Amino acid sequence: KRVEVPASVHRIDPSLVDRRAIEVVKTLQDKGFEAYIVGGAVRDLLLGLRPKDFDVATNATPEQVKAAFRRAFIIGRRFRIVHVVFGRGREHEVIEVTTFRAYLDNQAADRIKGNEKTSRQALAGMQHAVDASGRVLRDNVWGTQQEDAARRDFSINAMYYDPQSQIVVDYHHGIEDARKRTIRMIGDATARYREDPVRMVRAIRFAAKLHALGFTLGKKTAEPLAELRPLLADIPPSRMFDEMLKLLQTGHAIASVQQLRALGLSEGIYPLLDLIVARADTPLVRLALEDTDRRVAEGKSVAPAFLLACVLWEDVLAVWQRRQAAGEHPSPALSEAITEVFERRVGDVSGRGKLGADMREIWMLQPRFTRRSGKTPASMVTQPRFRAGLDFLRLRSRAGEPLAELADWWERFSLADEATRAELLESAR
Ligand code: ATP
Ligand code: MG
Repeated sequence: KRVEVPASVHRIDPSLVDRRAIEVVKTLQDKGFEAYIVGGAVRDLLLGLRPKDFDVATNATPEQVKAAFRRAFIIGRRFRIVHVVFGRGREHEVIEVTTFRAYLDNQAADRIKGNEKTSRQALAGMQHAVDASGRVLRDNVWGTQQEDAARRDFSINAMYYDPQSQIVVDYHHGIEDARKRTIRMIGDATARYREDPVRMVRAIRFAAKLHALGFTLGKKTAEPLAELRPLLADIPPSRMFDEMLKLLQTGHAIASVQQLRALGLSEGIYPLLDLIVARADTPLVRLALEDTDRRVAEGKSVAPAFLLACVLWEDVLAVWQRRQAAGEHPSPALSEAITEVFERRVGDVSGRGKLGADMREIWMLQPRFTRRSGKTPASMVTQPRFRAGLDFLRLRSRAGEPLAELADWWERFSLADEATRAELLESAR
């Protein structure tokens, strides 16, 4: 049932709404389309939070959306969405526009006009979800707003906000659940987790993100998690890795670890995540998780390479020592240890080339920090990952290794002029 909730009830603060998102909605509406801010942004607005990004949902097709804006790009193969781009360079902003989609079985999908051709094309080579009764489902077919709401995961993520009329459209008691501080799966939770097991990780993510506001998972939403956890083994590692980073790098890493433990999901989600949960109380990993949360809160960037370098440092050390004991020279032994640990613990994930290279540089710099003579230091500080390497050294020091003096020295050296550098080199002898 479609419920229209006025501003007097939802009390969204219009000053929290991004002006570009408003512009996108208005442009589409002026052309006669339906358009709303949707999903996580509406949830955050309702809770008085400033959304980090804004998505727009519309009944215009991607082609129609693209035609309505000067700079808009259709992206994605499985789901074609449009990025409307404002501004340039570092200041640029992207509003993601998606066409209302249904989540239907094949026959029902084919009955909707416009779906016949596109859906069959998109079906080739894509993975299908299967519902509880074994029907093949696909969610790449256009639908109505009502259908679009029903395919979303949690009731608080399935609301639509029209910034012009300031009305929130709510089909699944999202407003009520937000007031009751409940994260509730739309429909039958078990069936929805089976359709897409990644929703289990999303449940944990929102439980962590909203924990401080008093939210908990609804009983029926939480209950199936323990039993259905093995389904995550079938999700491609790349997707699990990305979901893991969303848990750890969106400002709620510590809370995510706490939720995983509280829900009895410390193991069996994803090997690398299991490891992080297991090591979350070791000094280095704990500091890395806390620092990540603090940096996100301060609006600073966070790099997966840095966090993972902290998590896997003890493995690298162990393999490095084993190889040296077997007679290998320190530097090649470290390089080989890094290759070994990266393959074993990280494996085949998206962006692994850059990730692996960044982690390698952070680690390879560590023994080099102890060499403070000759030309080495001057070339060290020009390395692109010098900062990250020094931050890592600093974190090791804070975690209890006697490296504070060394880290200070490098800090001073990196900032000093020629003459001072010579003095610093002298003093380090
Ligand atoms: P965040 O603030 O962390 O970005 P979000 O709610 O915006 O949270 P997104 O991953 O950006 O999360 O997804 C946007 C919206 O798309 C969600 O609010 C939800 O309605 C829908 N959605 C995303 N992933 C799924 C999924 N696996 N199953 C069902 N609906 C989903
Ligand atoms: Mg989002």
